[in-house]
Amino acid sequence: MKALVYMGPGKKEWKDAPKPILVDPTDAIVKVLKTTICGTDLHILKGDVPAVTAGRILGHEGVGIVEEVGSAVNNFKKGDHVLISCITSCGKCEYCKKQMYAHCEDGGWILGHLIDGTQAEVVRIPHADNSLYPIPPKANEEALVMLSDILPTGHEIGVLNGAVKPGDIVAIVGAGPVGMSVLLTAQFYSPAQIIMIDTDESRLELAKKFGATQTINPAKNDVLKIITEQTKDGVDVAIEAVGIPETFNICQDIIRPGGHIANVGVHGKSVDLQLQKLWIKNITITTGLVNTNTTSMLLKTVESKKIQPEQLITHRFTFDQMLEAYEVFSNAAREKTMKVIISNG
Ligand code: NAD
Ligand code: ZN
Ligand code: ZN
Repeated sequence: MKALVYMGPGKKEWKDAPKPILVDPTDAIVKVLKTTICGTDLHILKGDVPAVTAGRILGHEGVGIVEEVGSAVNNFKKGDHVLISCITSCGKCEYCKKQMYAHCEDGGWILGHLIDGTQAEVVRIPHADNSLYPIPPKANEEALVMLSDILPTGHEIGVLNGAVKPGDIVAIVGAGPVGMSVLLTAQFYSPAQIIMIDTDESRLELAKKFGATQTINPAKNDVLKIITEQTKDGVDVAIEAVGIPETFNICQDIIRPGGHIANVGVHGKSVDLQLQKLWIKNITITTGLVNTNTTSMLLKTVESKKIQPEQLITHRFTFDQMLEAYEVFSNAAREKTMKVIISNG
C-alpha cells in the first residue's frame, strides 16, 4: 500500500509500505477513505517531536471502512463505516473509566506518533471498540474527518475547560483550524459575544463567516485597549489557540475578575505566568491534551447539521497528491489554507 512516511527531520516520502495486519485481538484493520493534515504533522516533520522516529506513517485523522477485525472486537465488523479517533484507548483502565482517554494505560496513543497513522491506504486501529465510532455509509465523511481531532480539541480543551455559558463574552486567540473549532463549538453554549483575535486578516474574515461577532488583529490594534473600552473589565473566557508566549499574555491581559483562561495551544517554550496579577482577579487557568470524550456528542451535532465543520475545508486532493496537499497545508498564509481533505480514490 502507499503511505506518507516520516524519514527524519525535514524529510517525508509518499511510498510503498507494508500493509498493516492484526496484531492484537482487539485490533481492527481499516481502509482509509478520507484523511487530512494537522499542524502537529508539520511539527513532527520539523523534528520537534523526538518520540516520532524515521519510518513512522503520519496522520491521526480520518474516516474509513473496516476491512478486518480481531477476535475480541465486539462493536465492529467488516464493511462498517467508521470515524477514527486521533487517540486510541482501551476503555477499561483507571483513566479510561474517567474518560481521560489520552492517558489510557494501554494506549492513549496518538496515531501517527508512536504507532502508524492514517495518511495511508490502510491503518491498524488498536482497541477498535473504544477508538472507532460508527457512522452511516452515506454520512458527510468530509465533515466527520474534522471530528477525529480538531473539533473535540476545540470543544473539550477550549470551550468546556473555559466553562463558556450563556451571555459570556468569549475571546479566542488564534483563528487556525483549532481556534475555528473553538468558535464553532462555543456557539452551542450561547455566549453573547465571540471575539476572534489573529494576525491573519483572511482568517479573521473567515471567522466572521463562522460566527465571530468581532475580530481584532493585534499586529494593527491594541487588543487590551479595545477590549477595555468595550467590556468595562474584560472578557469572561479567554481561549489561547496558538501556543506562543505573546498570545498567552493577551489572555492574561484581557481576562476579567472570575474569568477562565483555557489554554489549548501547545507551547514549545515556557510562558510568563503572571500570577501576581491573576490571583487578585480569581482567575481559573486550564490546559490539557484532547481526550476525545465528547466525540459521540459532536457526531450528533454534525448529523443534525447543528454545526457544519466541512466549512473549514479549503482544499481537496486525492491520495496520489499527498505531497501536494502537504505543500499547500504548509503554506497556509500564501494558499489561504484552513483544512485540506485527501481522498482515497
Ligand atoms: P495554526 O498554526 O493553523 O493556527 C494558529 C493561528 O495563530 C494562525 O491563524 C496564526 O495567524 C495565529 N497567530 C500566530 N501568531 C499570532 C499572534 N502573535 N497573535 C495572534 N495570532 C497569531 O494552528 P492550529 O492547527 O489551529 O493549532 C493551534 C494550537 O493548538 C497549536 O499550538 C496546536 O499545537 C494546538 N493543539 C492542541 C491540542 C490539544 O490537545 N491541546 C490538539 C491539537 C492542536
Ligand atoms: Zn492533530
Ligand atoms: Zn485505557
